[in-house]
Amino acid sequence: MPARTRLVLAAALLAASMPSLCRSQTATPDAAPQTQYVPSPAFDLSSIDAKADPCSDFYKFACGNFAANHPIPADQSGVDQFYVLYNVNTQELSGILQKFAAPSPDRTPNEQKIGDFYAACMNTPLIEKQNLAPIQPLLDKIDSVRKSGLAELAGELQRIGVNAFFGFGEQQDFKDSTKQVAAVDQGGLGLPERDYYTRTGDKDKQIRDQYVAHIAKMLAFAGELPPQATHDAQNILTFETALANASMTVTARRDLEAIYRPQTVAAFQASIAPVDIAPFLEAIHAPAALPGPLGPDSLINFNPAFFPALIAAIHATDIETLRAYLRYQLLTTFATQLPKRINDENFDFYRRKLQGQPKQDPRWKICSNAVDSALGEALGQVYVQQYFPAGSKEKTLAMVHDIESAMDHDLDTLDWMSPATRIKAKEKLHAVADKIGYPDHWRDYSKLSVSPTEPLENVAHATAFENDRELNKIGKPVDKLEWGMTPPTVNAYYNPSMNDINFPAGILQPSFYDPATDVAVNYGHIGAVIGHELTHGFDDEGRKFDGLGNLTDWWTPADAKNFEAKTGCLVNEYGSFTAVGEGKDAVKVNGQLTLGENTADNGGLVLAYMAYLARAKKDGIDITKKTDGYTGAQRFYIAFAQNWCENSRPEQVRNQVLTDPHSPDHFRANGAIVNQPGFADAFSCKQGSPMVPAQSCRVW
Ligand SMILES: [Zn+2]
Repeated sequence: MPARTRLVLAAALLAASMPSLCRSQTATPDAAPQTQYVPSPAFDLSSIDAKADPCSDFYKFACGNFAANHPIPADQSGVDQFYVLYNVNTQELSGILQKFAAPSPDRTPNEQKIGDFYAACMNTPLIEKQNLAPIQPLLDKIDSVRKSGLAELAGELQRIGVNAFFGFGEQQDFKDSTKQVAAVDQGGLGLPERDYYTRTGDKDKQIRDQYVAHIAKMLAFAGELPPQATHDAQNILTFETALANASMTVTARRDLEAIYRPQTVAAFQASIAPVDIAPFLEAIHAPAALPGPLGPDSLINFNPAFFPALIAAIHATDIETLRAYLRYQLLTTFATQLPKRINDENFDFYRRKLQGQPKQDPRWKICSNAVDSALGEALGQVYVQQYFPAGSKEKTLAMVHDIESAMDHDLDTLDWMSPATRIKAKEKLHAVADKIGYPDHWRDYSKLSVSPTEPLENVAHATAFENDRELNKIGKPVDKLEWGMTPPTVNAYYNPSMNDINFPAGILQPSFYDPATDVAVNYGHIGAVIGHELTHGFDDEGRKFDGLGNLTDWWTPADAKNFEAKTGCLVNEYGSFTAVGEGKDAVKVNGQLTLGENTADNGGLVLAYMAYLARAKKDGIDITKKTDGYTGAQRFYIAFAQNWCENSRPEQVRNQVLTDPHSPDHFRANGAIVNQPGFADAFSCKQGSPMVPAQSCRVW
């Protein structure tokens, strides 16, 4: 999956409502990269439009030539710096995997697993030949299931990654981060978000029509006669719409107090009567006891209103429709490991229609991603040995420390925060754990077997293995050293329950980090990313967790009010940007949904600049000295904006704005620049010019 523009806040919520958007590509004969991907230069002079006025539109100045120089390849929904590096990293993974795909007695057990997984996935003639055989036993079960057997079957399907009806998983308890507990959540939707079922624009209706047509084709591929398939598909949309109406929006789910609903298992059971949850729990391999927030048998329910509505919808829907629904969910989950006709159709809806990508990803990318997702810490171990020099870890850790010191100073100078809250904020800051590159201990895959001739089963077994590993944590102590991203990932995250910031080796590469470039450029690129993740600990969600990772209110009421006034400024600013479309189909950036990310972008850039100035002073660097015609301070801001140079398809932008807490890339550049206290000086901009407005927003 292309990890575009994801500097995430891993709120560690269940991803149960996520559709299988990333499992939708197919077989092409390209066994190896045909394009040689190269990293962007750390300081990209070719993207700068020197004719543009940096004080009027800084994005146009820093990134004005990017789109012309980076036409979107047919097999991508867009291109930006994350995509450029993602392609480089994936090419490197594919090189590693091709080597180990050849059978050899010299392979270590992990090398055998990653190599055979890749070889099986690449064997598209075998996938065609096997046809539906690998899922036939499950299709048979679905064909004969009765309503009384749905709970058990849902457990079996969820264990291998099928999005059946709702979500179930393991979760650090928001209010006691030392506990790992069970959690249930809304889920079961095939479209990306509940609003896709409820919005009323022409484009929305068109997408729903396309979704129904897509489901009908998939069901026909699995043996239904076309008229029956169309009838079932329409009924599936009706069923999912009932689930959507009982689901919370992505925006509403940012209020963590509102979604944190501890329940005893008995109370949860009562809410889904007459369905018995026990066969589900057994089938998904949940532990026999579920010690949780309310005692020995309890859990967190992220949306209690969803479950009675789910039961009512199941009651109101005939069993043929429910069987068709599960059949469709099974097919879409495993589409990349099924014959071309199914894989192509799945791609056509989720990637071509929803994201505008004309052509499927090449097979080597699909299979490299599949191994990364199934065996990420086995593949990642080889990746870091080959592509992450020891010095990079040390140097980026020093930058992290610089930026943490900058935040310490920043807290001292904030005029809106009282001493009492300041003390608590500092406690939290000083408790942040820094994780750089890769885990200190690697996951053990010895109990997972991988076959060179079972592509679909490999994916199912790896998903079940990971499911069991996750559920096995319930009731056990937290492993603070665990990572939530694999080492080659081009991304970073803050986890509020762990209170840690995490930077995988995959993003500590050019253009984001280059040991050979100047301090200004590295602080503008990866320094702003580091500041971004650190600021997540203090955004609208993160601020509600304390230094121990517990959801608790450590703010004085006056300071909380000040904070909300400050962030309200950002909600208005970003909410005024129109991302795509016109009239009724216009989609604006959702200022509330993107608030956490925008707060992190703005605060992160302030901190990175403070850290850069302090570092320059310490090392005797003259920030007015020009390189390539730009001063150090200018290079810092240009490097930051160039993190967000992009060329995107409108469908991709639309999908992002409706579902993603991140603003589209180019708004992330100017949206933060207009609020930077150091920017006007660096470019000698007049007060009142578009990039230096009289009113600006400042939280951190
Ligand atoms: Zn973020």
